[in-house]
Amino acid sequence: MLRVGINGYGTIGKRVADAVQAQPDMELVGVAKTRPNFEAERAVANDYPLYAAIEDRADQFDDAGIEIAGMVEELVEESDVIVDACPSGIGEQNSEMYDEYDTPALYQGGESADFVDASFNARANYSDSIDADHVRVVSCNTTGLSRLTAPLREEYGIEKVRATLVRRGGDPAQTGRGPINDIVPDPVTLPSHHGPDVKTIFPDLDIDTLGLKVPATLMHMHSLNVTLETEAEAEDVRDLLEDESRLFVLPDHYDIDGAGKLKEYAQDVGRPRGDIWENCIWGESITTEGKDLYLFQAIHQESDVIPENIDAIRAVTNSADAEESIETTNDSLGMGL
Ligand code: NAD
Repeated sequence: MLRVGINGYGTIGKRVADAVQAQPDMELVGVAKTRPNFEAERAVANDYPLYAAIEDRADQFDDAGIEIAGMVEELVEESDVIVDACPSGIGEQNSEMYDEYDTPALYQGGESADFVDASFNARANYSDSIDADHVRVVSCNTTGLSRLTAPLREEYGIEKVRATLVRRGGDPAQTGRGPINDIVPDPVTLPSHHGPDVKTIFPDLDIDTLGLKVPATLMHMHSLNVTLETEAEAEDVRDLLEDESRLFVLPDHYDIDGAGKLKEYAQDVGRPRGDIWENCIWGESITTEGKDLYLFQAIHQESDVIPENIDAIRAVTNSADAEESIETTNDSLGMGL
């Protein structure tokens, strides 16, 4: 069994913890938190051993009547792999601690690509992270773009990707984020950072991205134009994408017209927290004009990186190849809508 610790138990950390628990080959050593909030209370209710992330604040757990299993250093020492899901920039600071205990670590998309050995997407470049010590699971948007790019490149070749990313202003719980009532080019200069980030997965891909932020919390929406190297029929592209386990091509008759109904659907099928691990591509939007492909896809920012974190755990421990890992992760989570 792979012993996994989670440092940073917020939006991403708590989802990774639940996903680790669901794996047949993994055991959750525990989760580290800075303070005894509602998420700490839930961790305890789930029987997840809780470790204090900051020594000076460890007493706060005691004061709140929450028993801790120890300090984060003990969690790191006891784990075969640490998943760092702290806010952007903190992971890099934590990397020295992981080195000290010789524990390989995964970081999230908010971290810089510069200090890690590899950036990770299971479908596109799993093997680059085998036996690596520091791996960054790329952001929700980069994950969504990489999953789509991989099969298109393999089947048709890609001349250029142009993507406009309409990004949610914040997650549902991020009450301090915005905009409240605006549509903000973000950044106003081109390209946005997403294109260069996708190149950490496909170094030679020609990709330009534009970003906007809107007052929404449910999902991101991508509008894509991919110029392929060869002409393609829309039905063939649709078949290709439907064959991908982490792409959900929305059937036309579902009558899902946006992120609101998508989230409703995820709740109706009983997804934990209403999560959608798959890219959601509108089948009707898949259009080709010669070599140009167009489509819309929605990305659930809080959850599409969760299966990727699970696969990255197997990559850094060299415990399965990409195909085996993706299959195990998909089966255990219940991937496929
Ligand atoms: P979050 O704020 O919801 O959770 C982070 C947690 O880490 C919080 O509970 C915070 O209290 C805790 N924390 C802060 N400092 C800590 C420390 N020193 N040690 C341990 N814990 C600490 O953030 P999040 O949304 O889960 O984002 C985490 C990472 O995942 C970021 O790099 C982010 O860019 C990336 N990411 C976020 C999303 C998203 O939409 N939320 C999507 C993909 C990737």
